Amino acid sequence: MREWEKNIRKVTPYVPGEQPKQKNVIKLNTNENPYPPSPKVTAALQALETDPLRKYPDPAAQQLTDAIADFYGLKPEQVFVGVGSDDVLAMCFLTFFNSQKPILFPDITYSFYDVWADLFRIPYECQPLNDRFEIVKEDYYRENGGVIFPNPNAPTGELLSLEAIEDILKHNQDVVVIVDEAYIDFGGGSALPLLERYENLLVVQTFSKSRSMAGMRIGYALGSADLIRALSDVKYSFNSYTMNATAIALGTAAIQDRAYFEETRAKIIATRERTKQRMRELGFTFGDSKANFLFVTHPSLDAEKLFQALKEAGIYVRYFKKPRIDQYLRITIGTDAEMDALLAFLEHLIS
Ligand code: PMP
Repeated sequence: MREWEKNIRKVTPYVPGEQPKQKNVIKLNTNENPYPPSPKVTAALQALETDPLRKYPDPAAQQLTDAIADFYGLKPEQVFVGVGSDDVLAMCFLTFFNSQKPILFPDITYSFYDVWADLFRIPYECQPLNDRFEIVKEDYYRENGGVIFPNPNAPTGELLSLEAIEDILKHNQDVVVIVDEAYIDFGGGSALPLLERYENLLVVQTFSKSRSMAGMRIGYALGSADLIRALSDVKYSFNSYTMNATAIALGTAAIQDRAYFEETRAKIIATRERTKQRMRELGFTFGDSKANFLFVTHPSLDAEKLFQALKEAGIYVRYFKKPRIDQYLRITIGTDAEMDALLAFLEHLIS
């Protein structure tokens, strides 16, 4: 090894799902929303002027922050925005998980958590999900440097009840507890009502799923003004201008269109429930996902082979070659037509 190489930070990066180059594939592998963003976003895009591109954007992204606060009935001081929730979560790890004690998260969960922990040299301990892939709340009742879990969990889709989340908070008053609600809008109960009682709770959400804007990269954290201030201090020590002018304008337009948001999420929920029914008839088993994806296994189909066969047929789903879940596929809920094509392929394969 050359001498200078010893000083290089060694990391094993997160591997995002594939973004296939060819058109006409059925893309059910990265939990994007199959519907376009709100028409108000299209209108805002057409109205964009170039002068704001010449100048630096508002470092506080106040217009967007205010619109998000307004949507949730919170104060703007309770909102922090970032470049997708990945950016927000990375900033949270850096800001709040600064203890010698290990942070806790599930063994099967969003596979970015251990990457950030390693990157920032945060000790961590994974808590195993039970056999039904549920979070066991009692596992989080021990000394730790912080707690984070997605709700619903990914890639399982399993929802933890608000009562269980509150129990975890009651047992963790001395650390920051982060609930990653990337998929909460597809039928789960948000932890936001608990913010009033727990100033150490932080809820992280995203425009990537329920607001159809994964390409725009907008995420946000909601919590007490003290937590948000701490996050902002770290952000301003890193990059003042995380949010570009276009993201601020289009994100504001998106969150102001509540009716469209309600309509598209209801469509996805309906398609998910219909898909569950037909997948069950085909012999797949899975939990009662409350996210925009299903996490499925089949007693007589090898998951990796099925993943490959689907890919060859132009249907992209997600496969994780990892302990406990290597016989599962995560399938994003697309349009009804996309799910029909998937189901037709599976029906043909099984019969
Ligand atoms: N949290 C979870 C649980 C996710 O699955 C994802 C999507 N990969 C994210 C956060 C990040 O999403 P984004 O950065 O697009 O907001």
